[in-house]
Amino acid sequence: MSTPAPAETSDPVREHTRTGLSKAALMQAYIDNLFYIQGRFREVATPHDRYMAAAFTARDRLLDRWLKSAQVFKTTHARTVCYLSAEFLLGPHLLNNLVNLGITRASREAATEMDLDFNAILEEEEEPGLGNGGLGRLAACFMDSLSTCQIPAIGYGIRYEFGIFDQAIEDGWQVEKSDTWLRNGNPWEIPRPKIRFPVLYGGYTQSYQDQDGRARTRWVPDQEIDGMAYDTPVLGYGVGNVNLLRLWKAEASQSFDFQAFNVGDYYGAVHAKIEAETISKVLYPNDEPEAGKALRLKQQFFFVSCSLQDMIRLHLNTVGPLETFADKFVVQLNDTHPSLAVAELMRLLMDEQGMEWEPAWDITRRTFCYTNHTLLPEALETWSVNLFERLLPRHLEIVYEINRRFLDEVRMRFLGDESRVARMSLIAEEGVRRVRMAHLAVVGSRAVNGVAALHSELVKTTILKDFHDLWPEKFHNVTNGVTPRRFMVVSNPRLAHLITEVCGDDRWIRDLGRLRELESHADDPEVQARWRQVKTAAKQDLAVWLRQNTGVELNPAVMFDVLAKRFHEYKRQHLSILHVIRCYQRLKQNPGQEMVPRAFVFGGKAAPGYYLAKLIIKLINSVAEVINHDPQVNGSIRVVFMPDFNVKNGQRLYPAADLSEQISLAGKEASGTGNMKFSMNGALTIGTLDGANVEIREEVGAENFFLFGMTVDEVRQKQSAGYRPWDIYNGDPELKADIDLISSGLFSYGDTNLFRPLTDHLLHQDPFMVLADYRAYLDCQERVGAVWRDPAQWDRMSILNVARMGKFSSDRAIREYAERIWQIEPLPVALN
Ligand SMILES: *Cc1c(COP(=O)(O)O)cnc(C)c1O
Repeated sequence: MSTPAPAETSDPVREHTRTGLSKAALMQAYIDNLFYIQGRFREVATPHDRYMAAAFTARDRLLDRWLKSAQVFKTTHARTVCYLSAEFLLGPHLLNNLVNLGITRASREAATEMDLDFNAILEEEEEPGLGNGGLGRLAACFMDSLSTCQIPAIGYGIRYEFGIFDQAIEDGWQVEKSDTWLRNGNPWEIPRPKIRFPVLYGGYTQSYQDQDGRARTRWVPDQEIDGMAYDTPVLGYGVGNVNLLRLWKAEASQSFDFQAFNVGDYYGAVHAKIEAETISKVLYPNDEPEAGKALRLKQQFFFVSCSLQDMIRLHLNTVGPLETFADKFVVQLNDTHPSLAVAELMRLLMDEQGMEWEPAWDITRRTFCYTNHTLLPEALETWSVNLFERLLPRHLEIVYEINRRFLDEVRMRFLGDESRVARMSLIAEEGVRRVRMAHLAVVGSRAVNGVAALHSELVKTTILKDFHDLWPEKFHNVTNGVTPRRFMVVSNPRLAHLITEVCGDDRWIRDLGRLRELESHADDPEVQARWRQVKTAAKQDLAVWLRQNTGVELNPAVMFDVLAKRFHEYKRQHLSILHVIRCYQRLKQNPGQEMVPRAFVFGGKAAPGYYLAKLIIKLINSVAEVINHDPQVNGSIRVVFMPDFNVKNGQRLYPAADLSEQISLAGKEASGTGNMKFSMNGALTIGTLDGANVEIREEVGAENFFLFGMTVDEVRQKQSAGYRPWDIYNGDPELKADIDLISSGLFSYGDTNLFRPLTDHLLHQDPFMVLADYRAYLDCQERVGAVWRDPAQWDRMSILNVARMGKFSSDRAIREYAERIWQIEPLPVALN
């Protein structure tokens, strides 16, 4: 048995147990942590104890670098990016941190020497599911790249006690289970009980005159809660820079509590405590109709208010007068969820700091930048004026005043154009009056950006056209990216290793453009063979996981055709299942038919209240059930639904895909980032001209991308000409047969009603034009099959896809934000 060595007997020249990076230091640290933090001997340690000891071993090394970063940032008064996001979908930390520390190999060797199963330790980590999907994951990739690019930054968000629900599949249906990710403790966060701010709600406002006789406004709220900071250090890859992710937890206000006790209302105080804590209790799934509206608005204000108070505190403590606030901080609003920050900063500067409107507005407008993430009108956030006024009466006054001044500006520019004034107003007047959060964000920001070239153009010409007419210089594009650390090095070590060998070094990890080096090897049979081995090994790993978790067996030799993302009609998972049904019918009708064998792998969650999306999940599972049990076809095609698609499971999927399905209706997907992750891992894309697909295709070359479907213009034309899905159904016998097979009850044990809401919707409305793209999609899948039959050709295309993905590193995206939007320079923190 090894007992920890007391400090006095340790060799003074030996590396420090908490900071050393050698195998020996890591082993000693692990044993120390197991004993002193988990209180365990190695003989009785549980898998969770082992994970915690390993996590603390990594964390000590992060903290060492964090301290140096904090000192550098403080003494240089560094300009700082504050990334405000209601979601951070981080994924497991441990391996990512080991990679960024550069100690993966030493850690593996340390584990082996101690007879520990390194992979089992990694598997033990439960991911913090603090986001829904792409938007939250983008924030997490940006945090990694901000540190790697050495930009001083703070990520601000909410420490949800329950993240996005865990998805189970029962009888083919999605079942939601609550995500209790904090149950076993979170070794990556540091609670900061002293960093705490009051957050106010409700009540009314009063006008008064201050000592200098100036007219001021006082907010008399009727609820006060506290936000307490929890800090997670975010280390960059191969650098000394560590940024901070600061998440807020809601707690009962200490002063409020105290009052209740004074008047003897003990139960009232306890009740207030519970009510306060509900604010950061749960992450709301998006695409939910009207669920928990008031609480969601409270959540948004909660984290925005804490974050701005924190920035003001930091500024007053370091730089000084608030006049320079916008020089010290630039605040990026990740979608409109944090856009209350515009009104809250105005309130803090005026009501709390005594500033006049004009200087406060000048600071506010120089501080914020806003990223738009959606063109779907139903996804643009608005809040009813009634609810807004009830929760945030002072902010409504401020919004009205911003609006009054803004609409005067519009009237001056566009004399007599009152319909434009109504369209641009921060308040929608038709029906129940509502506050338009996107308008508030645009008016209060100095830069607005979309997330892919096509998306940014559509933002300027559709939803924010009027604003673009007024302020064309405000509008930018920054195409999204993903971090190659997590989505290549961490999740696909075999590929990373091969790329490093072929490229000659591993500089591509921080400079993804260097992947171009692979191009000249795309036709090299030896490289192709190793490339294929790497892919097959990843497919084997995924097959093992899927067998263990779903019971479905897949043959790693067949094409893995993968569609994994949130379920939404615009993403058109139902188009893909129609193709599966078509393959099935062809095989049944013509058993001798030559068909490229495929495994169709689906994954993704649907919002709990999104009935059609959940029905599509049920349909996929029902089709899978029939196909996988039909010996006449199951040698050629199989279908499997991976339950609980999240970052951790995504990391199993991206490396194993041969074909990546990116089949949204053109003009609906803002960017997509799943498309990038797949392609970076050597999958070929079948996709529409939507979001970042357009740019991926430009980069990899049209000949290395399977394009199908209508363009944005064609979609528009078809819609304005009167789209009639019923006619398409009647005009295409195969399509008709596929939909009729669903209606026949074959996939529902004879129940002809189960899928009716879906088939009826497709035949009579089809808002995302599945039927219009069906034939083009099938034809394109034929082309995919033809290329698959030529392995050398497929491998070449796969290698070229990876070689040309350099643009889609989130490092590139962050550099563009830094130069074009934030005007901030890197500030390197020395290693050691
Ligand atoms: C990348 C990612 C997404 C985004 O996928 P899209 O295909 O761009 O919609 C969603 N969820 C998770 C867990 C991801 O990692």
